[in-house]
Amino acid sequence: DHRLLRIASAIRVIPDFPKPGIMFQDITTLLLDPKAFRDTIDMFVERYRDKEITVVAGIEARGFIFGPPIALAIGAKFVPMRKPKKLPGEVISEEYSLEYGTDRMEMHVGAVQPGDRVLVIDDLIATGGTLSAAIRLLERVGAEVVECACVIELPELKGRERLGERPLFVLVKAA
Ligand code: IMP
Repeated sequence: DHRLLRIASAIRVIPDFPKPGIMFQDITTLLLDPKAFRDTIDMFVERYRDKEITVVAGIEARGFIFGPPIALAIGAKFVPMRKPKKLPGEVISEEYSLEYGTDRMEMHVGAVQPGDRVLVIDDLIATGGTLSAAIRLLERVGAEVVECACVIELPELKGRERLGERPLFVLVKAA
């Protein structure tokens, strides 16, 4: 697809952020290119519009940028998967491990119902720990995770393998 080259070119790589040795994939430059941003959303919408998705679950923070336009276009609910203590209502939560220590993801009780067909969206998959926590949370409430989707995959980290059977769709693979 000719759109992928433009999307990949619009992503900026910042070396040594947030710490030495990390090559940070920065999608804020993609947002500065309206054509590339539009193409990104269109490619997801084309893939998911006929898959009977009822919920787009976006992971804080950059899943909140890509998720809502997709949800609106396909007529699905948008559900934010948030960092701890941000959601005001009753939540269920799931812990996951980071390079150093653990973090927690939270979701409002009742936002996702048994039988909902969910698309999980984030900007990037690295080790897959974040997406697998989102999957556990969604499956605990009886939803079906139809697919996970990211703009960027770092294939060397093999995050895809942590998602089990659930498919992962990505637009750009980065080194
Ligand atoms: P994982 O849990 O190891 O797969 O890390 C993925 C999470 O970390 C996602 O929520 C990403 O937004 C974030 N992340 C990790 N590396 C990068 C990067 O290079 N650019 C942007 N986000 C990143």
